[in-house]
Amino acid sequence: MSNTQPSTRSLVAQALHYIDEATGAVVPPIQPSTTFARDENYDLIGEFTYGRYGSPNAAKTEEVLALLDNGADALVFASGLAGFSTLFETMRAGQHIVAPQVMYHGGQDWLRMISERRGIGLTLFDQTQPGALEDAIRPGETAMVWIETPVNPTWDIIDIEAAAKAAHAAGARLGVDATVATPVTTRPLELGADIVFHSATKYLNGHSDVSAGVLVTGEKNEFWEEVRVNRHYLGSILGPFEAWLLLRGMRTLFVRYEAASRNALKIAEHFKDHARLEGVLYPGLESHPGHDIAARQMTAGFGAMMSILVSGGEAEAKRVASALKLFVAATSLGGVESLAEHRKTVEGPHSLVAPNLIRLSIGIEDADDLIADIEQALAVL
Ligand SMILES: *Cc1c(COP(=O)(O)O)cnc(C)c1O
Repeated sequence: MSNTQPSTRSLVAQALHYIDEATGAVVPPIQPSTTFARDENYDLIGEFTYGRYGSPNAAKTEEVLALLDNGADALVFASGLAGFSTLFETMRAGQHIVAPQVMYHGGQDWLRMISERRGIGLTLFDQTQPGALEDAIRPGETAMVWIETPVNPTWDIIDIEAAAKAAHAAGARLGVDATVATPVTTRPLELGADIVFHSATKYLNGHSDVSAGVLVTGEKNEFWEEVRVNRHYLGSILGPFEAWLLLRGMRTLFVRYEAASRNALKIAEHFKDHARLEGVLYPGLESHPGHDIAARQMTAGFGAMMSILVSGGEAEAKRVASALKLFVAATSLGGVESLAEHRKTVEGPHSLVAPNLIRLSIGIEDADDLIADIEQALAVL
């Protein structure tokens, strides 16, 4: 399969193309059944048995997700972290995990917990230092190298191809949290990753109305089967109605993501040298330390997540965040509406985030209106 973006887009369009034979409906039905009947020979009538193992709506959504990431198979979960914890259920005592110092804080908290409780090694590397990931790996012991790119909420860029080489040389797998990049602009499996993770609560669904998570594998193998079996036992599968909503949200993924990315670039360019800011963190700016790698591995725009560093400290940042009118002061990201958040408040005691940082999730409103809103908020300083 060609790896270009238009072909991915058309494949997804094909997968979404649906006509109900009986009624002509162009949208697949919601099938809420938790159990599936057998025929007179006691064979299952269809491919499903029981709702905790799989459902027609989950399967349809997984088919589209596997296509989007150019993977061999996908599994959907009740939230991003439900997928993350189901994946890390595969880890055994004595094995070792490598992960970035700055990453989605809830995932890192979970890794700390299982590391302590179960005797699993955990090394957090400084994602801003070249070579730090390689140095953190223990050949023969490291089972999973976990990265996130762009990194939330500093938007540092980690080189996926280099991470895959380092992980594989040591006999480890590479997992990539690509929630912020989405398959619109980055497909980590094509760059050597083994597993891709998305919080589908964010861009994939895009409307701030579904909690969902996804894992996509490059290969169907024993490890993947273990993840699937873990999902059976944990019951962490996404429900049929939520799977249906996620599929609906994905119909507009490309247009939403591209519009939000265009807005973000315009906003970042506008504020990059602003007198009331210490800086703008956005991989699309040439001044960003990860810009060159981002330009290589983000093939269709630099995404719509950025942070601004307000001149002053925590008090000034909170005053600015509270003065925004169009941006909603709320956590989360990737919806059509713009959100702003004082990140250190949300992350708690382990947080390495600068006290003057405001995280912005840029939506699909008019870019000039968003710029005017940030300008009037900075004017309160
Ligand atoms: C939100 C998020 C998660 C967790 O996903 P949930 O759907 O909230 O469980 C993981 N990684 C990143 C980068 C996120 O933004």
